[in-house]
Amino acid sequence: MKQHRMVDLKSQYRRLQPELDKAMAEVLEHTAFINGPAVKSFQKNLEDYLNVKHVIPCANGTDALQIALMALDLQPGDEVITSTFTFIATVEVIALLRLKPVLVDVNPNTFTLLTEQVEQAITSKTKAIIPVHLFGQGADMNALMSIAEDNNLYIVEDTAQAIGCDYMHKGITTKLGTIGNIGCTSFFPSKNLGCFGDGGACFTNNDQLAEKMRMIINHGSKQKYYHEVIGVNSRLDTLQAAVLDVKLKQLDDFNFRRQDAASYYDKELSDIDGLEIPKRDKHSKHIFHQYTLKIKDGKRDELQAFLKENNIPSMVYYPVSLHQQEAFSSYQDANKSLPNSEALSHEVLSLPMHTEMTEEQLQDITLTIKSFFKQ
Ligand SMILES: *Cc1c(COP(=O)(O)O)cnc(C)c1O
Repeated sequence: MKQHRMVDLKSQYRRLQPELDKAMAEVLEHTAFINGPAVKSFQKNLEDYLNVKHVIPCANGTDALQIALMALDLQPGDEVITSTFTFIATVEVIALLRLKPVLVDVNPNTFTLLTEQVEQAITSKTKAIIPVHLFGQGADMNALMSIAEDNNLYIVEDTAQAIGCDYMHKGITTKLGTIGNIGCTSFFPSKNLGCFGDGGACFTNNDQLAEKMRMIINHGSKQKYYHEVIGVNSRLDTLQAAVLDVKLKQLDDFNFRRQDAASYYDKELSDIDGLEIPKRDKHSKHIFHQYTLKIKDGKRDELQAFLKENNIPSMVYYPVSLHQQEAFSSYQDANKSLPNSEALSHEVLSLPMHTEMTEEQLQDITLTIKSFFKQ
């Protein structure tokens, strides 16, 4: 049996190698390493795939979030509401721009923003909400969009873990990341659509926001050496775009493969008393960036150690909620408790999940988990 891995990039590369090698060789021949033709081609193909008017490729997912917030013309001290149970990048960029991150708790079943708490957190300074589509499933976008409309707020979707996922919005199947004002994603190698280095993108249907973001990624400039706004240098390089253009054609297949593995896990693990399999939101599909169990009775760390003894990797996403991180201590009321996310940080365990999982591997993992709970 192939060795277990959280993510098996090597086997995926082997499977797609001829096409990927050809695409990369073309870039090397052409030598337009920055702003080469593959960047435009990938941009156009991703716009078609997502059914969105504008894709603005950039250097990574963290930059995408920063660029999106920069495009909104917020003022220092303006408040941005987001989840305390996410990767740090979501909150880091808010603080970097001298905005105030307001962290709220998550739904313990879907791990996404608790909409009642979002409403309670709104003040006269609130300007935006960043829902995070965690682990490959959509936050409650229908509720959040109506909260945003009622309160005149922007929505920036963090789609780093959910690219390609369908969501039922106003009765129409829509790709996550294209519902709010701006969507952001990451092409970090282990994401559902990953390149061979760093990459990211913003999406929007709004022409003005798109124009602004295109300037921001290019030093605030439309015409070389003329700078209209303060910007950054954030580009998707041509080699990464060429890789992504090949992989984008496989994205639906990648996500089906993850869903197949998730179905196997579901079927084999649903009857075990000491754990909960991932719950599904009623409006969102789930593309399983992570397959995350909740382990009850304080047994999470013991199960993780047992899996490790049996050569099965697993990961805790995330061991510390962001409102408890030292870096954000100055923004938070020290006594504030966000109990759902605090409980989750002791219960969650993500199993190996990728596009190349074999039935043999899935069987080994699920049998090992079953044997742990029979001890
Ligand atoms: C990966 C990730 C990011 C950041 O993407 P990078 O490309 O690593 O900068 C942001 N938010 C979430 C939820 C992520 O998972």
